[in-house]
Amino acid sequence: PEQNIARCWFNGRLVNPAEPQISVYDHGLLYGDGVFEGIRFYHRRAFRLQAHLERLQHSARAIALAMPYATDALAAAVDEVIAASPLDDGYLRLVVTRGAGSLGIDPRSCAQGNAFIVADRIGFTSAAQRQAGLSVIVAAIRRLPTDGLDPRVKSLNYLNHVLARMEATRAGADEALLLNAQGRITEGSGDNVFVVRRGELLTPPGIDGALEGITRGVVLELAASLGLPAREASLAPYELYTADECFLTGTAAELLPVREIDGRALDICPGPVTQAIESAFSALIARECGEPAETAA
Ligand code: PMP
Repeated sequence: PEQNIARCWFNGRLVNPAEPQISVYDHGLLYGDGVFEGIRFYHRRAFRLQAHLERLQHSARAIALAMPYATDALAAAVDEVIAASPLDDGYLRLVVTRGAGSLGIDPRSCAQGNAFIVADRIGFTSAAQRQAGLSVIVAAIRRLPTDGLDPRVKSLNYLNHVLARMEATRAGADEALLLNAQGRITEGSGDNVFVVRRGELLTPPGIDGALEGITRGVVLELAASLGLPAREASLAPYELYTADECFLTGTAAELLPVREIDGRALDICPGPVTQAIESAFSALIARECGEPAETAA
């Protein structure tokens, strides 16, 4: 068996990730009461760290969760856990919970939030799936409505997304897309979705129920720099079934071409726009997270 390569920072110090750290009374665990980020690191440098930390702060403020650590302290903790990791390229999960309280739901019983960061590999898809392109379904279960929880809050409440992902597995597909109550496409279980139609790159607006993904933002930036028309647009399943190209984006996903949606095969996968964005994305990562100037001893 492979040696355990996970490293963990918990409330200010490096700990053994295999040992329990979180109380069974933690409201993150009991009620999904908390916020999180998934962050990639390449060549031991976190990609778009400030954007992730800002989104985390905003998520926490939106649910009135007092952050136990300031942004600078969390940035230092990220550096610490990357330095402790044997991996050059990997994935960080940064979680802040409301903390331990009573068994009741009232968050006033939680005196102090808990924060942890795990550095590990992320197995979102296999190399074979990446190569072939993904088969996706539109799930029957709907996304939590935006008037129930603002989709910009990246909270620990992922149950709808988990159930959608289970539908995909049951259907023999790789990933599920969730509709909102109005039948508009929102996002995947852990990623944003893009289509290319008539030379335009389209992605659902946040108001339809999409997380404002950091990778989604990067793809929109890259499209602008490549001179590719791109905009937010409400999409029904029809726009996906009849798309020229389709791909998913996310920190874990990076950029994943889609080859079929609900059994309807796209003509090309990956298409030329997908490939252009993908190579611009790799070049951007190399620019922002290239080999560190001072090599580690
Ligand atoms: N939507 C959902 C539901 C997600 O969990 C993620 C992954 N964080 C994304 C979209 C993509 O966001 P990002 O590019 O910031 O990782």
